[in-house]
Amino acid sequence: MIPLGQAQKRVLEACRPGAAVEVATSEALGLVLAAALRAPEPVPPFRNTAMDGYAVHAADVAGASPQKPVRLKVVGTRAAGSAGAVDVGRGEALRIMTGALFPDGADAVAIVEETRADGDHVEILAPASPGVHIRPAGDDIAQGQSLFEAGTVLGPGHLGVLSSAGVSAVKAFRAPVVGVLSTGDELVEAGAELRAGQIRDTNRLTLLSLARRDGFGVVDLGIARDDEAAIGAALMRGVEACDAILTSGGVSMGDFDYVKTVLDRIGKMSWMQVAIRPAKPFAFGTIGAVPVFGLPGNPVSSMVSYELLARPGLRKIAGHLDSDLLRPAVRGFVAGEGWRGAKDGRTTYVRVTAEFAADGRLRASSSGGQGSHQLYAMAQANALAVTPPGHELVDGDPVDVLVLS
Ligand code: AMP
Ligand code: MG
Repeated sequence: MIPLGQAQKRVLEACRPGAAVEVATSEALGLVLAAALRAPEPVPPFRNTAMDGYAVHAADVAGASPQKPVRLKVVGTRAAGSAGAVDVGRGEALRIMTGALFPDGADAVAIVEETRADGDHVEILAPASPGVHIRPAGDDIAQGQSLFEAGTVLGPGHLGVLSSAGVSAVKAFRAPVVGVLSTGDELVEAGAELRAGQIRDTNRLTLLSLARRDGFGVVDLGIARDDEAAIGAALMRGVEACDAILTSGGVSMGDFDYVKTVLDRIGKMSWMQVAIRPAKPFAFGTIGAVPVFGLPGNPVSSMVSYELLARPGLRKIAGHLDSDLLRPAVRGFVAGEGWRGAKDGRTTYVRVTAEFAADGRLRASSSGGQGSHQLYAMAQANALAVTPPGHELVDGDPVDVLVLS
């Protein structure tokens, strides 16, 4: 067996970031920025009011109160989006709405709540300090300011900032397209009749969904029978259409595990026994330049193998920074009940529900049956509790978790 870290290293050494391409900002959610960005425009682009009210001279209203209102002549009304030259002189006020261009001359906002309209005049009922409720141009982002470094993962807030500063396209790494192939004579498609000895294909949909969740493109390569020609044909379709391929099944010690035979013939593969439970068998290599991840068949194993081994490699292809490829182990959790680590030298990844408990502690409790075929508990889990070999935990013991969602 090899330690997980060594298997991850092999994967990461072989996976390279894909091409950097020009992408419309509107299509860039989840992509990794390939070059640093500066703001071409200031945000906000002009001085404007943060409140509805009147643009006034602070000096005019310094002594205003409900008992001694200051009466000003209203020279116009300005909505957000309108401009035009209006000069606010002494003794005058311009009615302005939130977001409207703040007029030259005036230096303070009398908020509408502290005024009383009176025909073409307004009574100001409180003093207004210079500058308060006025948002200067560039108050959020200065023109030319550095915005985001290469390696930034573009989230909704980032895209909003780019929109606000007039950045309509960015240089980002193209999301890899991942092909997913199930293998096994026992597998049938959803909706098909289940005959004796058959099971429904589970891994294809979970792996396609994991890849989609992680922001990758996907290609469904279907189910290949345990037959060398069928497996070979499906893999070649994947090589044509995809930047990486995930297979499940056929990589363990069974008599009909032909994925191994075929990949050895058409690819350059390493076959690993990784010191983890579940998901010990793992194959990784390349067909031409396309990385291939041979994940184990049991549904929990294939998901855990994806999380620990395939996802980091795919994230590297997607341009994520080296420091951002693996899920970090989060400290500070306590076990909600006892459990045991494997006795054969493997680290066990216990499917757990990690939560803020009522007693204020971060608690990780088993989410159900821990067999590698028992996908139900994996679906219920939001984290994997990292249990070192031979380790026996009792209720309340500290445990590290990998947060999945
Ligand atoms: P294998 O590695 O091909 O021997 O598969 C190990 C176990 O995983 C067997 O019980 C298979 O039936 C099961 N298995 C393989 N592929 C899938 C799949 N796509 N969906 C559900 N179970 C699978
Ligand atoms: Mg099989």
